[in-house]
Amino acid sequence: MITVNEHFLKLKAGYLFPEIGRRVGAFAKANPDAPLIKLGIGDVTEPLPPAVCGAMLKAVEEMSRPATFRGYGPEQGYEFLRQAIADCDYKSRGVAVRPDEIFISDGAKCDTGNIQEIFGLDNIIAVTDPVYPVYVDTNVMAGRTGAGDSSGRYGNIVYMPCTAENNFVPDLPSRPVDLIYLCYPNNPTGAVATQEQLKKWVDYAKKNKAILLFDSAYEAFIQDDSIPHSIYEIEGARDVAIEFRSFSKTAGFTGVRCAFTVVPDGLSAYTRDGQPVSLKSLWNRRHCTKFNGVSYVTQRGAEAVYSPEGREQIRQIIALYMSNAAAMRKALGDLGYAVYGGTDAPYVWLKTPDGVGSWEFFDLLLQKAHVVGTPGAGFGAAGEGYFRLSAFNDPEKVKQAMERIAAI
Ligand SMILES: *Cc1c(COP(=O)(O)O)cnc(C)c1O
Repeated sequence: MITVNEHFLKLKAGYLFPEIGRRVGAFAKANPDAPLIKLGIGDVTEPLPPAVCGAMLKAVEEMSRPATFRGYGPEQGYEFLRQAIADCDYKSRGVAVRPDEIFISDGAKCDTGNIQEIFGLDNIIAVTDPVYPVYVDTNVMAGRTGAGDSSGRYGNIVYMPCTAENNFVPDLPSRPVDLIYLCYPNNPTGAVATQEQLKKWVDYAKKNKAILLFDSAYEAFIQDDSIPHSIYEIEGARDVAIEFRSFSKTAGFTGVRCAFTVVPDGLSAYTRDGQPVSLKSLWNRRHCTKFNGVSYVTQRGAEAVYSPEGREQIRQIIALYMSNAAAMRKALGDLGYAVYGGTDAPYVWLKTPDGVGSWEFFDLLLQKAHVVGTPGAGFGAAGEGYFRLSAFNDPEKVKQAMERIAAI
């Protein structure tokens, strides 16, 4: 008899976005003339920058001629892109990352989900609460957790609450953990972590022989010069951290698909008897066995993100999203809401009024303002009492949404 991987049965049935979809669908059916403004899902709205499209068109042209056609490329990515990343994302910030430590992929969702495969099943994982659900669900599937409870928390995971009280950056855990997922700038809270806050984590990982998995998918949105863009800006991080980045939010690649993971040489985890094993060699083996590379056309498009024109075009797009975030912060603050995030990340995280739960607030905005956001409780138990609004939209729509919320 064929059996299933029963760990999958522990998963709470992808509750958040389907439930939002259900409520929005029911509302739209009952109110077909009410124009909805969606500030819910974290997807970009501006089209690809012209520099990226130009590079992709040129690459398509190359693929059309026998002399310049390319089949399978290197699984880890083309040298031209890995070199551009090493120079522009890292060297320019005084960080030493070599091209051969960079693995190009089709998404940071896949990478943050797949990375756990190279670690033992008996590791204790730690995640922030609220959290990007991919980190948790992939560990559930692998069998690294117990069953889920009614609040959506799983046994054997250490949850680190992030609330206004700790500026949405977690305190060190009170019990030993091995694999720590951190995401800064953060989705969903829009919070950032300072040098000092990240240093504490690097030191913790060093002392406890733990590994940090650092998701910096939103680093391009950082406006404050003192905030690190990379975990490797922290002294000692090369010995304890893997970093994930993506062109999705940076350059509008959510539909094109390109991202990368950095695994430094010298980064190790251990066998049961304490022998160090290179994580770069394990990840290389995993990547080459299960993945056949990102398309040449896409990688040429990603390379163009680093060209002078590409950088300027991206700067303008990010400035547009960040002006939306500023307008949202201002309008909501004026209405008396406690607002967080939105200064170095494209998400505004607000405290719902006293006694109003996140889902209740969701229904209120939907019914009264016809604005769709995301209830904080959907990202974890500690997100209850908070609400996420995304700055990915047209400035005029954002303005309208704020006027409607003011009129409730
Ligand atoms: C959007 C997002 C990513 C990027 O995912 P891709 O698969 O590269 O599109 C990664 N991490 C977080 C937390 C995100 O919100």
